[in-house]
Amino acid sequence: MRNFSYDTMEHKLKELEYEYDALEPVMDEETVRIHHDKHLQGYVNKLNEALKNNPELQEKTPEELISNLNEIPKSIRQAVINHGGGVSNHNLFFSILKKDTEISGKIKEAIESEFSSFENFKEKLSKEATTQFGSGWAWLVLTKDKKLKITKSNNQDSPLSNNEIPLIAIDVWEHSYYLKYQNKRPEYIENFFKIINWDKINKLYEQNL
Ligand code: MN
Repeated sequence: MRNFSYDTMEHKLKELEYEYDALEPVMDEETVRIHHDKHLQGYVNKLNEALKNNPELQEKTPEELISNLNEIPKSIRQAVINHGGGVSNHNLFFSILKKDTEISGKIKEAIESEFSSFENFKEKLSKEATTQFGSGWAWLVLTKDKKLKITKSNNQDSPLSNNEIPLIAIDVWEHSYYLKYQNKRPEYIENFFKIINWDKINKLYEQNL
């Protein structure tokens, strides 16, 4: 049996793979810094807090935890949904952002085939993100039968809990855009499409087919 010290079991903040200002002007440096260093760190801390009396769960990744919610004790299940989801959703979100990539490859073919055109896909995903009431996320997911689907969720609920694999995550909590866009969520969403890292999305898609 492995003997973990509390320190090594703790979930840690995943560093950004780019500079805080790398997504300017779509996402300003201050927003990225606060979003990553404060909000995401907060979810990491609260996930660790929720799991502190369950060492066997601390060995699992946030993705494993929220994919198997029936294995989480009821007393901490909602905390794991909120904070495990918060960690997993943000790790995906920050990892799929990059300026100036172009859609190509299998994901391009699949989007055009499923949604008839890229413009139609963009319109549908934007609508889902715009109409999510209150805090939550809009998603492009891969379903169990490997079809692309656009969906949305409340709070930090993850598609992984429904057996769906998230490929694109649009954070529509106000903390993700309010400093720069204030109440103009549609403008944030329109600009968000300029920083989707299509090379990364294509890789995720191919890996999960
Ligand atoms: Mn967020």
